[in-house]
Amino acid sequence: MLTACTGQVSDQSAGDNPFFESYGTKFNVHPFDRIMPEHFEPAFAEAMTREKAEHLAIIENSEAPTFENTIAELDRAGELLGEVSAVFFGLTGSNTNEDLQAIRQRMAPLLSAHRDELSLDKRIFERVKTIYDARETLGLDAEQSYLLENMYKRYVRSGALLNDEDQTRLKEINQDLSKLRVSFGDNLLAETNGFKLVIDNEADLAGLPQSSIEPAVVAAEAADMAGKWVFTTHKPSMLPFLTYAENRDLRRQLFTAYTMRGNNGNEQDNTGIMAGIIELRVERAKLLGYGTYADYVLENRMAKTPERVYGLLDRLWAAAIPVAESEVVEMQKIIDREGGGFALEASDWWHYAEKVRKEKYELDDTELRPYFQLDQVRDGAFWVANQLYGLTFEPLADMPKPHPEAQVFEIKEADGSHCAVMYMDFHPRESKRGGAWCGGFRGQNRANGEEVDPIINLVCNFTRPSGDAPALLSLDEVETLFHEFGHALDVMCSNVTFRTTFRSADFSELPSQIMEHWAVDPTVMRHYAKHYQTGEAIPDALIEKITNSDHFNQGFATVEYLAASLLDMKYHTLTEATDLDVVAFETEYFNSIGLIPEIVSRYRSSYFGHIIGGYAAGYYGYIWCGVLDNDAFEAFTETSLFDQATAHKFRTAILERNGTADFMEMYLDFRGREPAIEPLLRKRGLL
Ligand SMILES: [Zn+2]
Repeated sequence: MLTACTGQVSDQSAGDNPFFESYGTKFNVHPFDRIMPEHFEPAFAEAMTREKAEHLAIIENSEAPTFENTIAELDRAGELLGEVSAVFFGLTGSNTNEDLQAIRQRMAPLLSAHRDELSLDKRIFERVKTIYDARETLGLDAEQSYLLENMYKRYVRSGALLNDEDQTRLKEINQDLSKLRVSFGDNLLAETNGFKLVIDNEADLAGLPQSSIEPAVVAAEAADMAGKWVFTTHKPSMLPFLTYAENRDLRRQLFTAYTMRGNNGNEQDNTGIMAGIIELRVERAKLLGYGTYADYVLENRMAKTPERVYGLLDRLWAAAIPVAESEVVEMQKIIDREGGGFALEASDWWHYAEKVRKEKYELDDTELRPYFQLDQVRDGAFWVANQLYGLTFEPLADMPKPHPEAQVFEIKEADGSHCAVMYMDFHPRESKRGGAWCGGFRGQNRANGEEVDPIINLVCNFTRPSGDAPALLSLDEVETLFHEFGHALDVMCSNVTFRTTFRSADFSELPSQIMEHWAVDPTVMRHYAKHYQTGEAIPDALIEKITNSDHFNQGFATVEYLAASLLDMKYHTLTEATDLDVVAFETEYFNSIGLIPEIVSRYRSSYFGHIIGGYAAGYYGYIWCGVLDNDAFEAFTETSLFDQATAHKFRTAILERNGTADFMEMYLDFRGREPAIEPLLRKRGLL
């Protein structure tokens, strides 16, 4: 809980800075309406000063180190920095502007230096180590033991055991990495916003549904090109174009612009930045005593070693390539039958896959969308959470919001007690980065003795309402909404003591991906998928088509994803990476593993934002979790869709404890056995 501490503020001019005052808001949410860009730098400065003072107090404590006076105090330290960072990085993700981006450029090296200064402080580490060495004798409970062991490991992994010279070098590397990461993200945003496919001949719109033409009209008006049509490399604009536009050359132009982002030899070129990042990571791993960066990262994950990751990826790759090849054959038949006279290229995939989908599964995106009105899909996700866990969702009016478009909900437990606040921000704009994610402005904990409730920020880039129609989602977008909502459930059901948790990319997609199963379950669909004009529930025949199309395009989806995962692993298992030419590197690598030319990796090096951030040697986590979520969902199909005992076990074994217990231990507590791979293979038609 943030309390008023204006007396300790060192910056005299900061008296009216909302971060230094009691927020005075409902549920103590952040006062977004009063937080201005100029508040961040003084707030960061003060927050770092406070955290240093808190660390100094721990160091100067004359009593012998104990769990309470050292580990628990460290966990409590840095609360203001947590608040400021959560708001700042939340806004730079979903509502950024030039001021915030300039601040981020300036803050990144300062924050990195601050973290290093604290984590490499030998006086703190001595105290932590003393407690760690005596851990067997302290009578700690499971949560305390997990915190102690992981906090100790975190110091070691941050370089606490290195000599002074190596620590100095490590700090330099961290500084450089933090700057490169920011530049990479800024370049990517500029490159994504920079390209516009301008159409001035109406005939070139042939094939496109009205729902994707209207946003192109709006985009043209916004770009001072009224009367024309503008398509962009943002996915809600690009994917319908690739799917429906009949003009093959224009499809190719748009797709090429997408796949060349960050690789155009201009000021926003990311290839050198990626090479620099990989090289620094190799050096960092060696400095810390690991063979490769992947060894360093995976030690803390459910997978534990690169070998186990490759074990899964290679097995899936071998199963998926022949399926993708058969999909190419199927699409080529359509091209030939239509007298196309060309061989399928990567940019053709969406267009001909849609034809296969219509022919073979009779599933037509434009037929589905009217049943997937955004607000109803959202309420469908709420309903599933209610059926499983008894949670309820009520809109909150008059709340400060991270962006005016955001919706706000209060979540309550079955007994009516307050559980969480959640913002939902659904549509794309230039101030928002691409993709969908579930962030948080505050996590649940009771580190100070009183319960702190979560504040969640769910952000998407979904199709906007157009004309008189509300926002109508694609099936993919429906699944994405349930997915991100699963992350939100993970946060709202959290039931932990400490602020510090240790989540992992190869486990945290279990709570999100398992929700995708409910999204397309017939019972659930009948509940939320109602025609936006007639109110009629989705017909059984359409549901059956969706179920039948489970295996549709799975060769492509699996290969496209695995290529990126394997590239991530390849980079991070390098033992040398001097003067890397990343474009040549990825080309050579993809050739060596037999990636077919009709598929471009889901991410190429110049726009692989995941591995710049927290998913380095971690992009595999989605399919690792795919094994987990398919196996875990079978616990419900073996009983019933909303089986209360199974739901209770999932909540208490996994959602409540995520980040505070060993991953396999949590899974075993839920399922009673280790996860099996077969449910995933079955689901994707790869058996
Ligand atoms: Zn996710």
